[in-house]
Order: sequence, then C-alpha cells, then structure tokens
Amino acid sequence: MRTLILALLLTAVSGLSRAAAFPDFDGTGAGLSVRAVIEQAASAGGLIPEPSAASAGSPVWVSMEKSAVGALDSAVFKSAPVAQNKRIAIYEFDAATLDRLAGEMHKAFGRGPGFFAHDSLESALEDLKEPPAVPARSYTIDQADRVKALLPLAEEGNIVSVIKSLSAFKNRNYRTATGIDASRWVRDLWTRYAGGRPDITVETFKHQAFPQESVILTMRGAAEPDKIVVIGGHEDSTAGYWGGDVSAPGADDNASGVAVVSEVIRALVKGGYRPARTIKFMAYAAEEAGLRGSADIAAAFKQQGADVEAMMNLDMVNYKGSEKDIYFVSDNTSQPLNDYVGKLIDSYTGLTWGTLKCGYGCSDHASWTKNGYPSTTPFESSMEQMNPYIHKADDTLDKSGGRAEHAIKFARLGLAFAVESAK
Ligand SMILES: [Zn+2]
Repeated sequence: MRTLILALLLTAVSGLSRAAAFPDFDGTGAGLSVRAVIEQAASAGGLIPEPSAASAGSPVWVSMEKSAVGALDSAVFKSAPVAQNKRIAIYEFDAATLDRLAGEMHKAFGRGPGFFAHDSLESALEDLKEPPAVPARSYTIDQADRVKALLPLAEEGNIVSVIKSLSAFKNRNYRTATGIDASRWVRDLWTRYAGGRPDITVETFKHQAFPQESVILTMRGAAEPDKIVVIGGHEDSTAGYWGGDVSAPGADDNASGVAVVSEVIRALVKGGYRPARTIKFMAYAAEEAGLRGSADIAAAFKQQGADVEAMMNLDMVNYKGSEKDIYFVSDNTSQPLNDYVGKLIDSYTGLTWGTLKCGYGCSDHASWTKNGYPSTTPFESSMEQMNPYIHKADDTLDKSGGRAEHAIKFARLGLAFAVESAK
C-alpha cells in the first residue's frame, strides 16, 4: 500500500513538472521516448504502441456515468469499478480496449465517447469530485462594424478543401502513423495561415500517454493578453468498435470542426484583425479515446491558473439533419455562455437555433467544464437527427453533398464569437 501511495505521489509530482512547461508545452518528462516513437511513426506505419509504457496493455482509468454501464456489453469490463460515487464509476482498462469501449458507447447511445480516459488513477479520481464553479462572466455584443467586415471573408471552398485533405488520411486515430501525420498537417496549415505575423504562434501540445499531438495557434492579445478565449475541435477520428488502423475518414466527425476553426483563423488574419485579449485555436488529439487531448490541455491551463473566459467547441458541424441550423449542448456547458452565443447567432447570422442534451463526457467541452472554465458547443443537428455515418468508413463529405453549406454557418458564428469575446 505504501509503495502504491509513493508511486501515486511520484506520478503526481511528475504531472506537476510536466504542466510547468506551460505555455510552451515542451520538454515532457517522457519526452525522449515519446519523441522516439513519433519520429519512427511515419516510416513504420500502422498502429503505434502507447509510448508511456512497454506495451499497448498499459493501464488506463476511465470515468463514466454508472447509468450508462448497464447498456454496454459487460464483457468490455474486466473487473468491478475501482472507485465510485453516486453517479460516476472509475474502471481500469488497458489502452488497447478503449476503442472497444468507445464502440460500445457509440452503439448504445449513438454518440461518443461518453467517458474520460486518464493516464493515472489519481487523475481519474478527480472526476468523482464536483467540478469547480465557473466564475460569473458578463458577455456583451457591441462590435458590429468589425464583425460585419469580417463575416464575408469566410469561404465555403476553403472549408471543403480542408475537410477533403483531412478525410484523405486513412484515419486520424490517436495511435496511428496517419493520425500523427494528420496532426502535423494541421500544424503546417495553421502555420501558413498565420502568415508570419509576430503576434501569432503555432505550437504542438505533446501528450504523455499517446503519440498524436494537439495543435495550438495563439493570437496574442494586444491589451489584455492574460485573458484567453479558446476555439477548438478534435482532430482525431475513429471507426469505433474496430478502432485502430482502419479506414476512418471522419469528414463530419470531426474534419468539419477543424476546417471551421481553420477558416476562422484564415479569415481573421486576412482581415488584419488583432484581438485585445488572447485567442487560442486548438485541434485536440484523442477525443474519441475519452477526451484525452482536451483534458490534458484544460488541466494544464487550470494548473497554471490560466484565465479562460470562454471556450467554443466545434465537433460535427457539416451535416444538416434537423430543421434548425444550430443546436447547443445544454448539459455540461455554461448556460450564460450558451445564452450569449445564441444572441450572437441572432445578432449576426439570422440562423435558427435550439438545444439538446448530450450526456457525460460527450465532447471536448466537458474537459473545460470540469476544470472550471465556461464552455459552449454549437452542434449540427438535434441528437436524434445527427449524422448517422460517423465512426464508420462511411463518414465522407458526399454525405453533406460534397459541400460545406452547413459548416460555413459555424465559421461565421466563430468569427463573431472571436471578435466579440476577445475585444
Ligand atoms: Zn467528434
């Protein structure tokens, strides 16, 4: 027992030193081995083993709602929960069976992932606590001239082009060579879009437990740089149950979200826009494996006391399955922020919107919420009418008519959100 506690303490301490690398996100404790694995990845191809341990059987701790467990094949769980409270249970998995859990969740609930995966037990145990309260913020809308000048700069053709490029990778799985390559592609695209502006940096966030990196573009605020607005979406894709190195184009889930984040960046730079507060644009690794990329980043931000005033998550934005244009996730998000973004839609787009419930650990907004940051997720449709092709080889752009007519609405909303929030 004492050894266990010591091991937990050591892990916690190394976690602290990792987070201390913020904000340049470099020099992770396991940096060398992770680097080595990643450098070999492109030539090796296929599935990359978990770099943090000797084998792909390294343990992972999953937190999920107990009410969901009964709907899943009990064979997925190798043992009873290691800890629980009234609502949440923590299970130990090995990394290789996470894809199977994600597949089971998708089969049962038609969405993903519905759980958080953690590299350590003590990190998982945090999920048994109530998340910190989100501080009250006042959001205002008074930048009509700037927003209206920027809106026409968002172009559907660019969104189509980015979706095509990202969905051309065999998959963007967080443990495959093509998943690593796709992340580098995003980094390179955003570096081009930054156009060499000195107030813009592009960096990667290296994760301890898996090789795919998240990408972060920072547009530094000219007046209040410590106040941060985040716009992000996950870059990885999955074919659910089969996981691994199989065809998973993920055109809607979530090349569409990354394409919209990219178009917001491109349009802001083209328009010569400079924010008063800092805007960080993010492409998260490993969302489908339990929100692992965004959870690492949000935890690092919290540990550093970063002041994130608003976070917009874009996950599936190009399939118009419902009557209204946009549906807000109303659970595990910030109601004041949702209200404000609803008003942005009314003020600037003339689009219609509604709400939906998405459940525990539904997408990357949940990582920010659980670290005490206000988040919002505008989504493509109602839950019942969302894209039925996701998490399969069928998630291709032709299911959206080969276009980005729906996604461009989210790009315009993203522009309005950036300018009004970072003023
Ligand atoms: Zn997704």
